[in-house]
Amino acid sequence: MKKKTMRLVLCLVLLVAMLATGMPAAASPRAAASETLIIDGKTATVPVTAVGRASLVQVRALAAAYGVTPQWDNKEKIASFTAAGKNIQVFAGQGRVAVDGKEIKAATRILRGRVFVELVPLQELLGIAKVARTIASGTFTGEARGYGGMLRVEIKTADNKITSVRVVEHRDTPGIADPALARIPQAIVSQQSIAIDGITGATMTSKAILDAVAQAIGKARANVSEWRLRPAAAAPVAPGQPAAVRKQTDVVVIGGGGAGLAAAVSAAEAGAKVILIEKMPALGGNTIRGGGAYQAVNPELQRRQNIEDSLDLHFQHTFEGGDRQGNQALIRIMVNNALDGIRWLEGYGMKWRDTVRAITGSLWARCHSPVDPSGTGYINTLQRAAAQRGVEIMLETKAERLIVRDGRVVGVEATSKGGTVTLEARRGVVMATGGFGANKEMMARYRPAKKDLPTTNHPGATGDGIRMAEAVGARLIGMEHVQSLPFGDPRTGGLDGGAWGAPENYIMINRDGRRYVDEGARRDELVEATLKQRGQSMFVIVDSQTVQPGARFWGIAIEELVARGGVFTDMTIEGLARQIGVDPAVLRTTIETYNQAVAQKSDREFGKTMLGVQLNRPPFFASPRVVSIHHTMGGVEINERTQVIDRNGRVIPGLFAAGEVTGGIHGTNRLGGNAMTDVIVFGRIAGKSAAESR
Ligand SMILES: Cc1cc2nc3c(=O)[nH]c(=O)nc-3n(C[C@H](O)[C@H](O)[C@H](O)COP(=O)(O)OP(=O)(O)OC[C@H]3O[C@@H](n4cnc5c(N)ncnc54)[C@H](O)[C@@H]3O)c2cc1C
Repeated sequence: MKKKTMRLVLCLVLLVAMLATGMPAAASPRAAASETLIIDGKTATVPVTAVGRASLVQVRALAAAYGVTPQWDNKEKIASFTAAGKNIQVFAGQGRVAVDGKEIKAATRILRGRVFVELVPLQELLGIAKVARTIASGTFTGEARGYGGMLRVEIKTADNKITSVRVVEHRDTPGIADPALARIPQAIVSQQSIAIDGITGATMTSKAILDAVAQAIGKARANVSEWRLRPAAAAPVAPGQPAAVRKQTDVVVIGGGGAGLAAAVSAAEAGAKVILIEKMPALGGNTIRGGGAYQAVNPELQRRQNIEDSLDLHFQHTFEGGDRQGNQALIRIMVNNALDGIRWLEGYGMKWRDTVRAITGSLWARCHSPVDPSGTGYINTLQRAAAQRGVEIMLETKAERLIVRDGRVVGVEATSKGGTVTLEARRGVVMATGGFGANKEMMARYRPAKKDLPTTNHPGATGDGIRMAEAVGARLIGMEHVQSLPFGDPRTGGLDGGAWGAPENYIMINRDGRRYVDEGARRDELVEATLKQRGQSMFVIVDSQTVQPGARFWGIAIEELVARGGVFTDMTIEGLARQIGVDPAVLRTTIETYNQAVAQKSDREFGKTMLGVQLNRPPFFASPRVVSIHHTMGGVEINERTQVIDRNGRVIPGLFAAGEVTGGIHGTNRLGGNAMTDVIVFGRIAGKSAAESR
């Protein structure tokens, strides 16, 4: 063999050997540049080299920074190690990288006998941050679309750090957006990163803040992707030393929606010391996201609007509307105390509009509307009242199980931020955790046909209280009665994103441009009819008598809804028809026929009796809608004092329940506006009963 060839073979053998062992070459031609990185909370200086646009980090040094040595499979030329809880495999011979068995977009290279791997994808996956990030000093602004419209931020930077983040303008719903507005800016500054987890329940606001800050960072001539790298994880609670909290009180309320807050305030009014726990970062549950409509017979208001009504009629609508499945004694309590509930809230400062109206599926015009948007009026009022009455509120505290001693519920075990919270209740525990409209497993169990439907509910509506109460022997009733509504946003399932008002002033049309149902009918009838239409979806059509410029629907201005494509609008019926893809002539005939029915006060097609305005004042509006899960009528059985009933029909001492966690009031179908009445009336009773329980 020639001398030159021999030298080449020797070099190759050496290279393979080095690769296989991961050992550095004996005589490296040039040392790689190094970079200081934050890896797993520690600062590590590792060899990094730039090839073209890619930054490459040496595999052996990277593993060492995590305190491990890569295992080499010499035959296959694969280096494996665990970093940030993930298994990394570097296929040196094939130029590939896999994380937890899944190939990621990163390449490997062999340089000077060492194996290198692309840094940026690994940085993102393993949470590696560069120490030397640069950002121009000064004040920069950014904007992004939030829940209710554009959200604007201002960031201040100095010495390559973000020193402050301020949301200077937003249109998101107060109460719901608050935790994100308070925490995300703070987290960006303290973690010097925009890789911050969104706040559950305020995800759109969280995302908007992060996107707006990203834009501002870009304006500060910084590399946004570097600021997107996750910071070193916060130190976990050391094993064996969880933060443990133990408290004693008179009444513990689980759940900070309408029912829980009403119960807490009423228990405190009755002289009890109260602790309320809420698993989410903010109070409100479905209540704060709801439309806020509240059914109550109100002779004074209704007389002014020429609406005939009576407690018996409210009872009859509720009982018959639920197919006579509701508990008559509980329905009587609800309708008889409905107006008093309004007065009670007024006493704490809640403001109501001075007219009543019908809403979808309410069957009658007796719904009261708060002045404040959505359900914020209830939550703000009750939160204030709770503070006045000395109720202690513990957020991000999730009840896990009830504590039972000698057959009596005497407390709650909860978890909070990795620690345990034990609350002992001398008098009673009120379960007010809401329904299970956002729990797919429970839906699959109790109403399988609806398990794949989207939901209008907040993410915390997971039926926890039903499961906890069942575990201590509670009887569940009506669990199969799940209400859906054909008014869900096609993209999210939420009730927001569209524009409509009272059923007397809108029509529902199918994709052929035709009405197909009495819009004032029961909710279950509306759903059944919608599911028979092509595409199982519909459009709600209104005109300018319902939608005026600047009008807000679920807290979002009509102009914003149109800009997002959630609502279509046109000055002519034909133009609107073309936008939503239906035959213009058919839609015109549909609307003209409906307008005649309104004029004649007789709808011969579908028998609608709630006939309000004719749809003849442009512009016209169409909102596409689909069927969504909305309310779970089933739950824990209670008696007139809201005591929870066990499977043998006996009271479970110490346990009370109110709101959507309970079953048996609304039967098969809950009327629009009756949930808020239920929540306030029975929430108050539950608080008082628990406070008086011994
Ligand atoms: C979009 C929408 C619109 C609506 N509009 C109307 C309307 O106009 N009129 C009407 O009458 N009804 C309406 N409803 C229904 C009504 O809002 C609800 O039935 C009602 O708010 C339920 O109140 P609640 O207090 O029982 O439950 P929620 O308000 O849901 O409160 C329950 C609370 O318990 C918390 N929780 C759950 N599990 C735990 C746990 N393990 N530990 C601690 N906390 C826990 C939840 O996070 C939540 O905050 C609407 C519902 C939705 C979703």
